[in-house]
Amino acid sequence: MSGGHGKDKDISCSEVLDKLYTYIDGELEDDNCDQVREHLDDCRPCLEEYGLEEAVKRLVARHCGCDPVPLGLRDKVLGRLARAREEYAAREVGVERPGTPT
Ligand SMILES: [Zn+2]
Repeated sequence: MSGGHGKDKDISCSEVLDKLYTYIDGELEDDNCDQVREHLDDCRPCLEEYGLEEAVKRLVARHCGCDPVPLGLRDKVLGRLARAREEYAAREVGVERPGTPT
């Protein structure tokens, strides 16, 4: 196939945010972990727009490596994710947000 983003299993940003949240909460399987990691490697909106980059990458790397996630970091990322998901949901519904830079 041609077009698209050039990947077979592309998942949308909202899906990633969703998975990440579940994942950090400790209920997502390794399979999905790879998908999330791959998406985060490529996806600027997820990393920059939602400000997830460093904390999330560290968290995902640790978690995938079977290290325990530090509670402080986990809480921080979960908080950010929750907000990012809200923003994303609002955007998908087409809610206009005044003051959003174009
Ligand atoms: Zn994304």
